[in-house]
Amino acid sequence: MSNEAELLHHPARDPEHIAISRSKGIEIDWKDGHHSAYTLALLRDECPCAHCTGAHGTVPQKSNYAAGGGTDASPFPMFKPALRMLAVDPVGTYAVRINWSDGHSSGIYSWDHLRSICPCPACRQGRQ
Ligand SMILES: [Zn+2]
Ligand SMILES: [Zn+2]
Repeated sequence: MSNEAELLHHPARDPEHIAISRSKGIEIDWKDGHHSAYTLALLRDECPCAHCTGAHGTVPQKSNYAAGGGTDASPFPMFKPALRMLAVDPVGTYAVRINWSDGHSSGIYSWDHLRSICPCPACRQGRQ
């Protein structure tokens, strides 16, 4: 167990405890003592899948829930079904896959990705 992936892995940045609310979001207590609270909108907007990020040379189809939008420009902005997580499934020991109520389910959120999008003031400042 001394391959490259093992060397790059930071056990202190694994979750100690994960609290999932399908209608509110995800909260993670990390092993290094850090705490992250993600809203549904943030998680959906930061979906790391190839479709949303424009990997493979395609146009990014990033959602815009945090700003009050959705996945498309609805002609009825007042009528937006609330975003929810239908399921959060573990992927190995390094990630979770989120199945969204808007039909999207290809995003696999690794601990690394989740930690990198932590919205707390300290992390936001560190990314600027
Ligand atoms: Zn996606
Ligand atoms: Zn943080």
